[in-house]
This record gives sequence, C-alpha cells and structure tokens, in this order.
Amino acid sequence: MTDRCDFRCVYCMSENMNFLPKRDLLTLEELDRVSSAFIRLGVKKLRITGGEPLVRRDILSYFRAMSRHLDSGALDELTLTTNGSQLEKFAGELRDAGVRRVNVSLDSLMEDKFAAITRWGRLPQVMRGIEAAREAGLGVKINTVALKGFNEDELFTLQRWCHDHGMDLTFIEVMPMGDIGGEKRLGQYWSLENLRARLSERFTLTDIAHRTGGPARYVRLEETGQRIGFITPLTHNFCESCNRVRLTCTGELFMCLGQEDSADLRAPLRSSESDGPLEDAIRAAIDRKPKGHDFDYSRQRLDGRMSRHMSHTGG
Ligand code: SAM
Ligand code: SF4
Repeated sequence: MTDRCDFRCVYCMSENMNFLPKRDLLTLEELDRVSSAFIRLGVKKLRITGGEPLVRRDILSYFRAMSRHLDSGALDELTLTTNGSQLEKFAGELRDAGVRRVNVSLDSLMEDKFAAITRWGRLPQVMRGIEAAREAGLGVKINTVALKGFNEDELFTLQRWCHDHGMDLTFIEVMPMGDIGGEKRLGQYWSLENLRARLSERFTLTDIAHRTGGPARYVRLEETGQRIGFITPLTHNFCESCNRVRLTCTGELFMCLGQEDSADLRAPLRSSESDGPLEDAIRAAIDRKPKGHDFDYSRQRLDGRMSRHMSHTGG
C-alpha cells in the first residue's frame, strides 16, 4: 500500500529512510484495478500491508471499494497487517468495509521497550487501537518478532495477555531484510525452536493442521486451548505450502519474500485501458513462483540476505 510508516522498528527500517517519490506509487484507482484483476484470476484472500497501510491518505476508500468483491462472493477475505497506531481512528470503518480480522504487530508490552524497538511508536496508542478493533468486532491476531535478549522474558506475559483477550499469537523469526548491519541482525536472532521449547516447559503443545495459506505453523496449548503460530523461515523451510505473492506499492509483484525475482505490473497496467496485458503479466509471473527462499543462517553468515527492507514488500 505504501512504503511509509509512522514507526521505525529497528529490524525493519533505518532511522533515516528514503521513501519512494509519490509518482512511483500506484494510485488507489490503480491498486483497485490490480486487486480486481487478481480476484478475477481466482485470488480469494487479500491482505493489505506495507509500510503502515493505515497511514496512506484516503486508504479507507480503497477498502470500501474492495468490499464490492466481498459482497459479490468473489473475495472471501479482506484483511490487513498493521502496527495498530491508527486503529483507534479506523477500526469501525474497516469493519463497515467488510474487514473481519486484523493482524497487529506488537513486540513488547512494556512502554519503554516498545518505544525502543519501534523508535517512534507509543504503546498506549497501540493498546487503544487494539481495544477499538475488538470493540468494533474485529478479530485481532498479534504478531511478535522474537528478539534475543529483548522480549525473551516477555514470552509468558505475551502468551497470557493474548489468552486473556481471546487473541491468537504468532511469533516471527527475524529475517535478514534491508541494510541495518549484519552483526546486529545475528545478535537479534532468537530461534523459535528455543522459544517453543520454553513454552513446552509450561504447556503441552500439540501440532495442529490449521493453515492460512501462508508460512505459519500452529500449535495448541492444551492447558489454555490457545493457538500459537510460528513463522520460521530460518530454522525450517516452510515454503512448500505457501501460496502467497506480494505486490509492492509501485506495482512490483514478488513471488517470494526471500527471492529477488519480481514482475513489473505497473507497465502493463499503465500501457492499456484494457486489463488484458495486466492479466497476462500476472499469469506469467505466477508460473515463475519459486519453490523456496534463499535465506540461510546455518553457517553464521548472512547468506541470501535481501537488500530490500521488509516495509517494501510487507511482512
Ligand atoms: N506496518 C505493519 C506492521 O508492522 O504490522 C505492516 C508491515 S510490517 C513490514 C509486517 C510485519 O513484518 C510486522 O509484523 C513486522 O514485525 C514484520 N517484520 C518487519 N521486519 C522484519 C524482519 N526483518 N524480520 C521479521 N519480521 C519483520
Ligand atoms: Fe513500520 Fe511495520 Fe516496519 Fe515497524 S514493522 S517500521 S511498523 S512497517
């Protein structure tokens, strides 16, 4: 939706980011055309991300426009991943546009740590956003990046808090995206194998078959009935069952987060008023979706490091 954001999470962005000039971005009308083309070609689920999707000007008009595809039954689900900062303002309107679930990223429940990891984010604002989402009737899933020496000590606090509020929780291994310095990145890496082992000291974990078409694997904590997800690009190759592709705000289609291969959809979109060339380009790109990514930390080097920041393609 946008590469811009009102936070500067340390694993995602540098403090001084250079953002794309506005003219390079797809307009909201163009995003509507591309999204509608994907839906015509069979896409059933759209997840809007960024950057921070809710800081894009007039973004609600895009959501409202997409609701026609929900109404017609062509689209099953319209969701978003957000840092939660603007949810207090937009939760009700998102619900009215047909959104039923949101993923909110949150790595710490402590104000000072939250401010340190997001640089510009403030926890109370995000908490109010989560509350507003729940009050509007949206399902909330929390995404937490597992960071060594940072939120290890909050594992059970986060688990408990999500349980008390009826929210699913997914942990994400930090991925080598964007240039923030290799040494620092390896220091941040907390293996989800270890996180899982720590959880199993207190709970009985049962693997469950729940799938969302993405890379997460889920377990149930038998004692609470709660669902916990793991996104482990580095310790497991999760790619086989991933059917996702990602469209950037400039119209590049990435078939995999961990590969450089992309297809330009902006040129076919702008070359013709008909959607024929666009649909041809989408079909050709999907045929190239790779079997797996190239990340590998196993030799303690940053093999397969992507030069893109995560905010470029969305998580
Ligand atoms: N701004 C929104 C948010 O934070 O939810 C949406 C975009 S953000 C890029 C999507 C997800 O990617 C967030 O959950 C974030 O924590 C995660 N993320 C960002 N950089 C990452 C990295 N280097 N490794 C793993 N996850 C990352
Ligand atoms: Fe912004 Fe999300 Fe990246 Fe944090 S993770 S800087 S909130 S885009």
